Amino acid sequence: MKSYISLWPAHAAQLPFPRSLAILGSTGSIGVSALDVVAQHPDLFRVAALAGGRNARRLAEQAAIFRPGVLAVLDETVARELKGLLPAGYTPEILIGPGAYETVAALPGVDLVLSAIVGAAGFLPTLAAAKAGKYIALANKESLVLGGRLIRNACRESGAIILPVDSEHNALFQALCGHNGDEDLARLILTASGGPFRGKDASFLAKVTPAQALNHPNWSMGAKISIDSATLMNKGLEVIEACHLYGLPVSRVDVLVHPQSIVHSLVEYVDGSQLAHLGVPDMRIPIAHSLCYPRRVALNMPRLNLASASDLTFEAPDETLFPCLGLAKAAFAASHSHPVALNAANEVAVELFLQGRIQFLDIPRLIEAALTRHAALPQDCGAAELINADSDTRRETLAAAN
Ligand code: NAD
Ligand code: MG
Repeated sequence: MKSYISLWPAHAAQLPFPRSLAILGSTGSIGVSALDVVAQHPDLFRVAALAGGRNARRLAEQAAIFRPGVLAVLDETVARELKGLLPAGYTPEILIGPGAYETVAALPGVDLVLSAIVGAAGFLPTLAAAKAGKYIALANKESLVLGGRLIRNACRESGAIILPVDSEHNALFQALCGHNGDEDLARLILTASGGPFRGKDASFLAKVTPAQALNHPNWSMGAKISIDSATLMNKGLEVIEACHLYGLPVSRVDVLVHPQSIVHSLVEYVDGSQLAHLGVPDMRIPIAHSLCYPRRVALNMPRLNLASASDLTFEAPDETLFPCLGLAKAAFAASHSHPVALNAANEVAVELFLQGRIQFLDIPRLIEAALTRHAALPQDCGAAELINADSDTRRETLAAAN
């Protein structure tokens, strides 16, 4: 795989301020943090479009403050509710339905797209932004897991640039800047908090509830990624994300458990140097970095003080107790479409667990079964085939769970 590292600084530096911004998933955890960054630096951005899912109330509140010309929601009912909540005299265009997110991602007046929808639903909008040559601040890791090759190819053809928002990948990006990654790089080390169940045993894991799994020790995040953090699937998806972003095989991306979430990842160079990125666990730091890159902006939030921080500790992940990490690495190594099955089975299993319909330890079992069933698609298949494989896996995983 060819790395993108050397492309980022040259291109992103050309995007002038104020930047015209579209946020896909503005009502979620990442979207809300991003708008906080924008509110702290209103002179640097013009919010052109906000896309939510079903939360009309929050979207209306955001729209009333930032006054974008375009809004997008999932269906007619939400659109009607939204219209009723907007301030008098403000009449943005309201786009409706799954296709609306692709339209927003490719709006001609937009330079920068924050891709922060959760799950596979973020894939086609991210691909649309890539085809339209946008700067993409990418939080939606699932889109690279599903169709990393297609997104990379689209970026190459259109000149689109991906700026990583995921804290580990943003940390790696910062530690990679100024280096020719292909020649100097030995390996990437992704840190992981270990989630709320680090150090527990199988009998404990067998009985955990959704509320316990949602209670992440360091990060405040949406429900799906919180469960992924508890199973270590989040780190598995992030290993695949790193392989796509930095053009490395899975064998050169390691995972290190670091429960305090202060060191956000490390790059090891061929001379043995390891460069790390440190900061408080708050997504506004990587969000601001990717939205403003290469400029750095001041953020009004608590700062890291290492003198008063607790001890920083590191340990190897327990891949026996948390098999999702190994399943993700195996899926990426197996074929270019096995990650589609991995991701789809995971999304279904997480939803079933959140609904109380399966146990925590059923999540890796359902994913492993989906990977065993999956027949690899041809290397050159397109988005439609990947989406079909995603739908098939969802249907089969639901059937297997019942
Ligand atoms: P969230 O659940 O808080 O928000 C998701 C957003 O997507 C909401 O605006 C929701 O309305 C919208 N949405 C959900 N389903 C949709 C659909 N089918 N179509 C259109 N919109 C839909 O999620 P989050 O925690 O903000 O995570 C968003 C993405 O960022 C995920 O891919 C996650 O892995 C990634 N990420 C999140 C964090 C974090 O701290 N929250 C950190 C790193 C990466
Ligand atoms: Mg992360």
